[in-house]
Amino acid sequence: MDVRGNLRLVRDRISAACLGANRDPAGVTLIAITKNVAPGPILEAFGEGVRHFGENRVQEAALKLPQLGAVATSATWHMVGHLQSNKAKRALELFHCIDSVDSVRLAGLLNSHALRKTPVLLQINVAGESTKEGLPVENAADAANQIRAMGNLELRGLMTIAPLTADPEEVRPVFRRLRELRDSLGLPELSMGMSDDFEAAIQEGATMVRIGRGIFGGRKT
Ligand SMILES: *Cc1c(COP(=O)(O)O)cnc(C)c1O
Repeated sequence: MDVRGNLRLVRDRISAACLGANRDPAGVTLIAITKNVAPGPILEAFGEGVRHFGENRVQEAALKLPQLGAVATSATWHMVGHLQSNKAKRALELFHCIDSVDSVRLAGLLNSHALRKTPVLLQINVAGESTKEGLPVENAADAANQIRAMGNLELRGLMTIAPLTADPEEVRPVFRRLRELRDSLGLPELSMGMSDDFEAAIQEGATMVRIGRGIFGGRKT
């Protein structure tokens, strides 16, 4: 595994996508997704300047973060997977932001357990896939209003996981729809784009891309 080489490639591709879309690369935050990744390569990524990391399971993060020393505290950790209600409290101890809030009920639990003002993203199931978490587009505005009224949460934006397709161009309308929704809600952040489709996501306005395999290798799922 060549974390350093992979990161250089990913960063070059982010820059190229920004250039093509007339965007400042500083406006796109790279979140390295470390699920199933051992501490060694995570520390290596930190050494290469990565300051945002994401995990999709509380249990895995609870085991891994204590092994990462200062990287656990000096980097920003994002929860990006479905969060069960009974793990909301633990998630707030481990993560700085919860990027996968998929119900008002979960937001309410996070609000009641929050130790500090916690940044959150609302996850939207843009394509309406039954296998995916996230609120339907038509419920987003109402949910956003309710979450905005929660004093311990800071609603920063929207997140989506696009359908898995062979051609990233097929998911471009999903990214565009999420950006339009984000704009209509007046929010700053847009977390979309993974290893296979982040360039299209950046062209459509992503402010955070979540990349796992592109950095740490691994099979295409
Ligand atoms: C695994 C995962 C990613 C990264 O996926 P890759 O295809 O490995 O880049 C991004 N977002 C979420 C929510 C994930 O679970």
